[in-house]
This record gives sequence, structure tokens and C-alpha cells, in this order.
Amino acid sequence: MGRKRAIRRLARFAAFLTLLAAWTFAALPVSAEDPSGELTVGVPADRCPVFYMDEDTGEVIGIGTDLMRIAAEKAGFSVTFQPIGEETVKEALDNSFYDFVMPLGSAVASSYGEATVVSDNLFQTPFTLVALSGQKLPPLENLRVGMLRSLAGGAETVKQLYPGVNITLFESMDESVKALRDDKVDALLHNSYVWSYVLQKPSYSDLSVQPSAMFSMDFRAGTLDTPQGREKIRRLNEGIAALTDTQRQAIILDYTSRRLYHSTFSDFLYERWPFMVLGALLLISFAVILYQKQRAFKFKQEEKLRQLIDHDPLTGVLSLSGFRKRAEELLRLHPNMPYVISYSNIRNFKYINDRFGMEAGNELLRFWAEKTGAILTDLDALGRIEADHFAVLRHVENEEQIHADTRLVFDPVRNFFISRSKEMRVQICTGVYSLTTADFKDISIDRFLDYARVAEKRLRETHNEGFVFYNEKQWDLGKLVVDVTGRLPLAMKTGEIQVWYQPQVDHRTGEIIGAEALCRWDHAERGMMAPSKFITALEEAGLIYDLDCYVWERACKDLRRWELAGKPQTVSVNLSRADFAKDADLPGHFRDLIQRYKLSPDRLHIEITETAYVENPELLIVTTKKFREYGFRVEMDDFGSGYSSLNMLKEVQVDRIKLDLHFLTETGDAEKGQIIVRHMILMAQSLGMELIAEGVERKEQAEMLSGLGCTEMQGFYYYKPMPAADFELLRGIF
Ligand code: C2E
Ligand code: MG
Ligand code: MG
Repeated sequence: MGRKRAIRRLARFAAFLTLLAAWTFAALPVSAEDPSGELTVGVPADRCPVFYMDEDTGEVIGIGTDLMRIAAEKAGFSVTFQPIGEETVKEALDNSFYDFVMPLGSAVASSYGEATVVSDNLFQTPFTLVALSGQKLPPLENLRVGMLRSLAGGAETVKQLYPGVNITLFESMDESVKALRDDKVDALLHNSYVWSYVLQKPSYSDLSVQPSAMFSMDFRAGTLDTPQGREKIRRLNEGIAALTDTQRQAIILDYTSRRLYHSTFSDFLYERWPFMVLGALLLISFAVILYQKQRAFKFKQEEKLRQLIDHDPLTGVLSLSGFRKRAEELLRLHPNMPYVISYSNIRNFKYINDRFGMEAGNELLRFWAEKTGAILTDLDALGRIEADHFAVLRHVENEEQIHADTRLVFDPVRNFFISRSKEMRVQICTGVYSLTTADFKDISIDRFLDYARVAEKRLRETHNEGFVFYNEKQWDLGKLVVDVTGRLPLAMKTGEIQVWYQPQVDHRTGEIIGAEALCRWDHAERGMMAPSKFITALEEAGLIYDLDCYVWERACKDLRRWELAGKPQTVSVNLSRADFAKDADLPGHFRDLIQRYKLSPDRLHIEITETAYVENPELLIVTTKKFREYGFRVEMDDFGSGYSSLNMLKEVQVDRIKLDLHFLTETGDAEKGQIIVRHMILMAQSLGMELIAEGVERKEQAEMLSGLGCTEMQGFYYYKPMPAADFELLRGIF
């Protein structure tokens, strides 16, 4: 922009000098003939096909140049055409560098307001209106017309001819077309020949020529009105007069019939955008497919590699690393299933290899893997850890299953050579580790394998074969858990679960003052079980609440029956710590129970173990309070059994403390024990709480307690827990 302005200033300065010279020379006599005969004609080079740059020669050519050249030559001039640097032809008139400027319609004043002279008409140029296709134009009187600024002279002529027309000048064709599309003008006006060229542009296909040509404009050469100018014009006019119409038409036809429009890159894009978009989409899809294919290939390769690492090429079962992964995955997926890990080893494998050859040994291993694989399910995993060592993670429900596995897998493997008529019995040693509940929280396959391996080694060293458990007790416990948790619902229905009663006695009178309800399980396979055997398992399996609800209800039923029989009793029931987590409203649960069995709340004593108070004091304090509000008597069970927080007694108000005498028998120093008991009794008395001692086994204990002021007692010294029927007999109820 800055550069353009500088050129314009320079041009104006040159024009000013020319003017000065013109005035000076005007006073002098001028020769009629231009001595040089050379003409420089300034023309706008952007009006194809009237004036435009020939790309091959770099010269300005077009209808205008051809006509002018013929006329000038006929007048004895030789012509050079120069593209004007000025924005308009009017401005170029002031530039003395040009002998003539073209095209001019009439003798308009120069941009400095100087008078000009123009030649005769070289040819008639039709001017045409172009509008958006299908658009109806308003009448000429108030038509909004767009023209290019370079045609400012033409605009003036139009204004003179049609004063009502409103003309807006634009810098470029694109700008004017945009204004047309934005409805800022109704039509664009330009030289018809230029239109014939411009409208070939594909992106202007929405424009169309308005058939009624508006007007024609003369096409003349002009210069400032000086004597020399006038003289040159005179001579040029002679040449123009010699131009024939045939010549004119031939030139016009020549240029208008040429395919002068060259598509630009933007035309290319405009014309082909749907294909380009499609192409781009195809390219992108292709790239995406390629990328995915590559990923899939990579994944496949990795998978292959993983397969290689995680599998044993000889037998096809998992390798050690594969076994680790799969076993860990299974244990995480099934944290409540009884699982064992076994580690097996062939004792005489080296001997087998030596005697029958490596291939026979390999065949044996494949056979073993195949046999084991056949009995395993999706819940199990089998791996060859090394040489002749196999590991199995097996979901085992009972011992019977282990025996079945032995029959189906180990027996055929042991007899592998014998059944092939070879005198050799394969000896297998297997160590088994039974997973504990804690193992599921801290899964370490290597550790489990180590345990199993230790057991296997122990067995091998005793020169035995078969299988041994690393943790026999755990295995037994595991079995117990399965037996207990799996059977509980049925046991409650069939009466295997029973409620027994242990009477509580007033030592002074020997009178029975109440009883504690204690559950017993008469297990079909395991016989009569005390709660210590199964309560922990039920607590861990989250089933203790089910059992307790059953016991509480059973006790209420019994109480109701006894009351109806006219022999009301008082019964203490036990609550487990886990019950508080399962039921947020235990007091409400008991209130419903006594309402259902029409019992008064003081018939039921609620025993809550001291440990529960220590573990969750806030909840227990609130719950105890509520129980007492509902009229139940609350007892703190197992007091003194090791967890006592004496501080707790200050926070919570219970009705009775149940002193656990077991510690008296366990600790060696009876004297110290007595001191503690004495102080506990004293403390309870001063806190205003009643006291009962449980676990009283001997007469001396009873007398000692009584001497200290604790007269309520429960223990084998008086009665052992007994079935309800025995209790009824004892109490003379039925
Ligand atoms: P606990 O509530 O402290 O019950 C007293 C336990 O001491 C009973 O054991 C009883 O048989 C035993 N016992 C009574 N007198 C003597 C004695 O002189 N010497 C000895 N060595 N023991 C005596 P049991 O019935 O085996 O119950 C054990 C524990 O199981 C109970 O302790 C209680 O905490 C729990 N329990 C029993 N039944 C249930 C129940 O239905 N639900 C819940 N959640 N826990 C129960
Ligand atoms: Mg108890
Ligand atoms: Mg107790």
C-alpha cells in the first residue's frame, strides 16, 4: 500500500513537472510533426480482453492495443504500451511519461483538474449490467450499481446519463461481487468484453448478464490539453479515420473468441471441492485403516510374544509366568472360593529319562498335562513350573474332590509306563497349600507356591509319595468354613441349629433367676458343635446375623410358650459385633420381636460383648441407650476377659456386668486374680450396676464371689447349658 502511494506521489510530481513544461512550451511555436514518432501509451492491464498482459511476451495486448497500434501506425507513429501504475486512468493523465492514456469515453478532466483532449472513437464498447442469476432488477432510477474504481471516468459518464443511479466504486472484481451477493448493490456494471472474460470464472457461475445492454461508451485515447497533445491527437485521428469497421470487427472477434481465461488454483479448488473432500475423506480413512491394521499387527505380535512367554512349548500348558498371572487373576475374581495350590514333582524323573530316553520323558509330561487339563475347569489353572514340576490352582469344595483328582490324574500318570508294558511306576510327590482368608487380601502366588513346594519337599524326603498339606489345620478350617457356611440355611430349617439354655443362679438361695440362650449345631456330618467352632466362620462369611435372628426368635418363642404355660422365665441372648454392621436398628428389631410374641421387654436381657464397646463406642453407647429406653435390660458380656476398658463403664450405662471368670483359671496367680475380681465387684457396685459372674466352675469360686458381694452366678458348678426340653423339665414348666 505504502509503495503504491509513493509511486502515485512520484507520478504526480512528474505530472506537475510536465505541466510546467507544457505551460512553458505553450508559449513557443510547436512543430506540427512529432520529431520522434514514438508513442508511449499508458493503459490499465487488468481488463482482459481489452487490455491484458501476455504471459509469454510480458507485453500488454488486447482489443484496445491492436486497434490503437493500427491507428497509430497508420498515422506514422510507432507505439509502446505501458501498464499504468496509477489507480485510475484519470490519474494517469497527469503522468507526462505517457503520450496518451487509454481508454477514455470523453475529455474528462485529469485528477489534477487539468483539461484534456481525446482522440476520435476507436470503437464502441458496450457496457452491460450483471446481477445474481434469477434476480429481478429495480428500475434504473433507483438502481444501486457497483463499478470498479479504475472505471471512475466511466462512472462519471453513467452519472451524467442516469442521475438516479447510485454508484459504489470497488477496488476489485471480487470485492464488487461480494457486495452484490451481500445485497449491497443490485448489479455490477462493466465493459461487456471484460464480462465475457470474467464470467468464465467458475465461482462466478451464479452471476448472469442482464440482457438489456445499458449503454455504449466510446473508446478513445487522451492526453492533457496542450499544443503538443492536440497535435498528437490530430495525427492519431488521421490513423483512426483510416481504420475500417471490418478491421475493428476482426480484432474484436479474434480476442473474444480466444479462450483467454486461465483457471486459477482457487478455481481449481472451487470446481472440484466435492471430489477434493471425497479424496480427503478417502485419504483419512485409508490412513485410519492403515493405522489400525498396524496396531492390530503390533497387538498380534505382542500377543504372540506373550503366548510364547506365558506358555510352555512342550506341553502347551501355562509357563511359570503365565501361571502366576492366571492364578492371581482367578483369586482376585473369586475371593470367597475355597482354593488350594498344589506343587507336584516326579521323584524318579531323572531315572526315567536315563532309562527310556528324553522323548519318553517328554511324552510322560505331555500325558500328565493332558490328563490334568481334562479335569480342570475355568476356575482352575495349570502350569509347568520347570522340568517335571507342575503347579495347579484348584477350586476345591471338599476332600472327596482331591481324591477324585488323584484317581483321574495321578493314577494314570503313575501307571503311564506300566500300561505301556514297561516295568516302571512313576512316583509323584505333591505338596498342597490351602489358601486362607488372609491370603486373598495379600495375593502372592510365589509365596503360595513356596509353601506347597515346602510340603512337597517334606514328603519327598520321607521317601513317600502322594500328597500332603502344608497347612493341615488351615485345610481343616477351610473345610469347616465350607461345611458351615454352605449348610446354614438348611440347618436352620431342619432343626440342626438348636437353642440351649444355661440357668443362672442366686448363690444365696440356689434359686434359678434366669438363663442364657446359647446356640448349638447338631451338624449332620460333624455331630454336635459348640459356637466356638463355627461362629468365627459365620462372622467372616457375613452370616452370623442370620443365625442370631434365628436364635433370638427361637428364644422369644420359648419365652412365649413358657409364659402361656404359666411359668414365665427371663432369658439373656447374645449379640455379635457383626450384627451392628448388618442392622442399623437392632433395638427396633427386638421391639418388633417382643410385640410379635407378646412379651414384656424385661423378659429379655441383651448381652453385648465388651469387645464391641471398645471397638465402636459411639454406636454402642447410642444403641444401648435405645435398648434401655425400650425397656430391655442390657448386659456387658465377657467383662474382664482381656479387652476391658474400665473407662468405658463411665461412658455407658448398662444394667448388669457379666464378669468372665475364665481368666481366673487361665492365669497362674490366683491371689492376684482374686484382688482384681474384688475390685471389679466393688467398682460395679459403686457405679450402681448389677453383677453376675459366669464361668463359675468350683464351689470355692462361688463362695469367694459371694463373700465379695457377687451373688448371681452362671457356670458348670451349677448347670451346664442344656436343651430347651431339659430346661423345661428343670423349671417344672411341662
Ligand atoms: P458367652 O456369651 O460368654 O457364653 C458363655 C459361654 O461360657 C458358653 O459357651 C458357656 O457354655 C460357657 N460356660 C458357661 N459356664 C462355664 C463354665 O463354668 N466353665 C466353662 N469353661 N465355660 C462355661 P458356649 O455356649 O460355647 O458359647 C461360647 C460363646 O459363643 C458365647 O460366650 C457367646 O459369645 C457365643 N454365642 C453362643 N451362642 C451365641 C449366639 O446365639 N449368638 C452369638 N452371636 N453368639 C453366641
Ligand atoms: Mg453371653
Ligand atoms: Mg460371656
